[in-house]
Amino acid sequence: MAVLVRIESLPGEGRYAVTFERSDGSEQTAVVHLTGTGVDVAEASLPAGWTRDSDAFATVAVALRAFDEARRHAPAAPSLRDVSGGWDVSLGNVVLGESGTPTCTAHGPMTQTDPDWLCPECYARAVLIM
Ligand SMILES: [Zn+2]
Repeated sequence: MAVLVRIESLPGEGRYAVTFERSDGSEQTAVVHLTGTGVDVAEASLPAGWTRDSDAFATVAVALRAFDEARRHAPAAPSLRDVSGGWDVSLGNVVLGESGTPTCTAHGPMTQTDPDWLCPECYARAVLIM
């Protein structure tokens, strides 16, 4: 019989990799998609003895919902976005410095020009999302 050992988020809304460990120590991963009404999973991707409508899988679905809920409530780390029509962040010209200040990779810490940040030397611009 296989036991649940890991739940990992995948790119995309409500998508998770659920990993089970078989009694021989090998692992098997099923991709699970939380939907508005339930849980989507290919039954063939579940380990032997597990089915979509089993009590065991129902408890995994409860754990997934809790995990998903916790991720939605996590405080977001500050991040940089391009200003409208800008490209400095996506090109990598602006990064978050160690102090959390937007920093031009060529010229150093940038100046806040509410609401954007500006490099006074090359006019690179960025928006800081807190
Ligand atoms: Zn610059």
